[in-house]
Amino acid sequence: MSKRDYYEVLGVEKNANDREIKKAYRKMAMKYHPDKNEGNKESEEKFKEINEAYEVLSDSDKKARYDQFGHAGVNNNGGFSGGSGFDDIFGGGFSGFDDIFSDFFGGGRRSQRRNGPKRGADLRIRISISFEEAAFGVKKEIKLKRNENCETCSGTGAKKGTSKKTCSRCNGTGEIKNVQRTMFGNMVNVSTCNVCHGEGQIIESPCETCHGSGKVKKEKTISIDIPAGIDDEQVIRLSAEGELGEKGGPRGDLLVIIGIKEHKLFKRDGFDVYCEIPITFTQATLGDEMEVPTIDGKVKYKIPEGTQSGTVFRLKGKGIKHLRRDLKGDQYVRVVVEVPKNLSSKQKDILKEFAKESGEDIYEQRKGFFDTIKEMFK
Ligand SMILES: [Zn+2]
Ligand SMILES: [Zn+2]
Repeated sequence: MSKRDYYEVLGVEKNANDREIKKAYRKMAMKYHPDKNEGNKESEEKFKEINEAYEVLSDSDKKARYDQFGHAGVNNNGGFSGGSGFDDIFGGGFSGFDDIFSDFFGGGRRSQRRNGPKRGADLRIRISISFEEAAFGVKKEIKLKRNENCETCSGTGAKKGTSKKTCSRCNGTGEIKNVQRTMFGNMVNVSTCNVCHGEGQIIESPCETCHGSGKVKKEKTISIDIPAGIDDEQVIRLSAEGELGEKGGPRGDLLVIIGIKEHKLFKRDGFDVYCEIPITFTQATLGDEMEVPTIDGKVKYKIPEGTQSGTVFRLKGKGIKHLRRDLKGDQYVRVVVEVPKNLSSKQKDILKEFAKESGEDIYEQRKGFFDTIKEMFK
């Protein structure tokens, strides 16, 4: 199996400069990145090939050897760190990789620099509030468990009076470099130090409170202002209230997910409130002034004579305040005629009397309906 030319792999000219090479690499790597081509063997191979080419062409030393000797000058087995699968490349042996990807893949799953500070994880918590609390805003206290710096050792992990020692195996770098002499020059293999596991420092006598971790789990109460108008499933981000960072890195964020409990009368759609009110046959027929519940209290509303079941009325500005604007939604009231049950014989007689007295002519829709049928089957 002959190897393809590295310039050809990246699709650049032989005399391409660093910037052009980097640009070409980014483009290719984006296209064949395993995150975008899950399970695609061909892309995986392509991706490996691109990375191999870039590792050589982005390193002036290797590039010079490659230009002079071709593939033999940068023999893979000597030049690469560890194995050849791209898991190793992700693992960090390849230094250019993180930098180049962090800006467009967000750096999510890639490990950060071994010894550097690391931002803490985001914490998520769900709280449940009432319909009214969401409509008017509320202050809530949230209890959560998160890591705090251990007070005994001030977060160092070392027992009082002692301190961390620089790892003598790797001299604090966290990496072990193996230099291999070859006819083309020195080849360097880099691997994680097995004594300090890449930390660069060793705790000889761990703190008794935190057992060397430097952190302790504590319950913390955080108060949060929930703004009026917040809706179900919306998230409030409290910055730097999440999990503790590593090595002086900042805390992650706390994401508070809002759940709104169902209301017995009201439903909500955006900033509008909906409710349904049962009315009597008499109210619907004769009209009435009825009391309508709103989130601000009861209001009087006059329904006109001859209101049909299912009619919707709008009460302007009786809805929920907009989250970011000084504006309120509306309330929609649907009236539904409730048919009376369990009538006494006297009540029934009155109704029968009423029916006889009124005939069919007072029922507009019914009349229209039967006129249509008559027309159809003429
Ligand atoms: Zn401690
Ligand atoms: Zn070490």
